[in-house]
Amino acid sequence: MDVNIDEKLGTLTYKADHHHAHIKIRNESVCQTQCKDKACTAICPAKVYVWEAGQNKLVVSYENCIECGACQMLCPFDNIECDMPRGGFGVQYKYG
Ligand code: SF4
Ligand code: SF4
Repeated sequence: MDVNIDEKLGTLTYKADHHHAHIKIRNESVCQTQCKDKACTAICPAKVYVWEAGQNKLVVSYENCIECGACQMLCPFDNIECDMPRGGFGVQYKYG
């Protein structure tokens, strides 16, 4: 089945909890100096992680996260800390 991720994301509504970043990079220097492939930038379906080569920085747009859990599992350095958002915040799935 061919599912367009942008369409899929369009079925979600998101109430961002701007006071609480639920994704934290444990050690940014690991991303900068040890991680060649930057797997998080490729695997996140919501494009939360963007590597800014010019700034040598991983930009994390945590508001876009759909809480699939993939980044935490696939970061080869176990460098992503992810607390699910507090009650009432985060992803709300709409069915039908
Ligand atoms: S995969 Fe992990 S170590 Fe690599 S850039 Fe992403 S968060 Fe950093
Ligand atoms: S949990 Fe999923 S959607 Fe959220 S940042 Fe990680 S890979 Fe992206």
